[in-house]
Amino acid sequence: MRDITHFIDGQSVAGTSGRYGEVFNPNTGEVQARVQLATVGEVDAAVQSALRAQQTWALVNPQRRARVMFEYKRLLEANMNELAEMLSAEHGKVVADSKGDIQRGLEVIEFACGIPQALKGEYTEGAGPGIDVYSMRQPLGVCAGITPFNFPAMIPMWMFGVAIAVGNTFVLKPSEKDPSVPVRLAELFMEAGAPKGVLNVVHGDKLSVDALLDHPDVKAVSFVGSSDIAQYVYARGTATGKRVQAMGGAKNHGIVMPDANMDQAVKDIMGAAYGSAGERCMALPVVVPVGQKTAEELRERLLAEIETLKVGVSTDAAAQYGPVVSAAHKQKVSDYIQLGVDEGAELVVDGRGFALQGYEKGFFMGPTLFDHVKTSMRTYNEEIFGPVLQIVRADSFDEAVALPSQHQYGNGVAIFTGNGRAAREFVSRVQVGMVGVNVPIPVPVSYHSFGGWKRSGFGDTNQYGMEGVRFYTKVKTVTARWPEGSVEDSAFVIPTMK
Ligand code: NAD
Repeated sequence: MRDITHFIDGQSVAGTSGRYGEVFNPNTGEVQARVQLATVGEVDAAVQSALRAQQTWALVNPQRRARVMFEYKRLLEANMNELAEMLSAEHGKVVADSKGDIQRGLEVIEFACGIPQALKGEYTEGAGPGIDVYSMRQPLGVCAGITPFNFPAMIPMWMFGVAIAVGNTFVLKPSEKDPSVPVRLAELFMEAGAPKGVLNVVHGDKLSVDALLDHPDVKAVSFVGSSDIAQYVYARGTATGKRVQAMGGAKNHGIVMPDANMDQAVKDIMGAAYGSAGERCMALPVVVPVGQKTAEELRERLLAEIETLKVGVSTDAAAQYGPVVSAAHKQKVSDYIQLGVDEGAELVVDGRGFALQGYEKGFFMGPTLFDHVKTSMRTYNEEIFGPVLQIVRADSFDEAVALPSQHQYGNGVAIFTGNGRAAREFVSRVQVGMVGVNVPIPVPVSYHSFGGWKRSGFGDTNQYGMEGVRFYTKVKTVTARWPEGSVEDSAFVIPTMK
């Protein structure tokens, strides 16, 4: 059995805990590797390595740090196919989707290539007599990232791309479900010219997360995962004085107005609801048609699309989505489907019985569609995170705006409409952090920033872009006055014969 080891101080380090996590091949259901779960001492070794590296890395000028990012971008592109296949083999998403996962992380690296510009400070000349004031951004020190299984390339790069470019060093604790890509990302980063210790990877579970949260030398923690754990990480990390940003779960709504371009909306909703087996925090698991006529048309069209949807192994180029990540997750999603039936929603399409020929033990699920879902139902209020789409019918625009606004999660939302006035009103009023107008998955580009509201995000700074730069730096402001006197007294004036 292959062991997946930690990556500390620029090299692979075998764990000593004797504790392992199983890494599955979701296509076959087989265990394909074991990942070593770190001890507190191993977490400390990673932090100490990062601490040593930080002393010199912070002094490397921003342009030179950017050059490492340029080279890293090149290496990621050169290794794209290998990384995507590795990612699909552990996560289960189709290879094209894995490339998207890597690409969206790579775009944060591209943003980091411009870090000298982003780090330029502010200056006020003559704030008082002979007084100048300037502010600069300095790195925090050692930062840590704790990431979920569903984007094992993109989310680590959201974090360490910016954190390291501004002069910090980093300890990544990736998901134990698909840990190989994060290690490969760190190896490539060393190959790009980063000194050892600048990026370390420790695998683990709650024990290593707690060790990072309690470690006095870790100055900031960035977390992405489910909301209860995000809230826990936020509370425990801030209690020890760390800066923490913790992104949580989601239940994103797609509002379909009567004047929407239905061909486009249906295509977009299918991809956003079922793509990556619904395991995206920006998926659209809830669709809200406004008016009964819109609802009937949408339902019919979705049904027709679902009939032709192709579920397959992650290497099948024709497949639209692959298996979910684990047997436990498949069971959880199946239980939610049963709960939906018990709660009285109409199960229009049931994906539970699906099996892929030749891969009967794989964690595959067919697409599920519910109609007449009510806001009182647990299946509406909770995140399912699988290929399950729920139709919640609304009678008016106001009702449609209220649904995502009143939901406990506020990550993403989309409105499909041909009416600019309605779209503008929606954008202004909806209580959600990222909004799409005729865009189903409004993940902001790398020079904007990513963050949800309510239980989708704890802390007040978003991921990547300038928000990331602010999160990973602290501001120092200098007020300077030079001694009074004649400038002619200075030895630096051009000498004259007088
Ligand atoms: P998860 O919360 O189970 O795990 C996230 C990380 O926390 C992992 O590294 C895991 O090892 C660690 N962890 C798990 N249990 C822990 C505990 N008890 N104490 C401390 N650490 C613990 O999430 P997941 O299943 O890997 O990912 C899916 C979730 O992530 C979904 O809820 C999804 O919506 C969310 N997500 C959110 C965003 C966002 O940006 N808002 C992006 C992607 C995923």
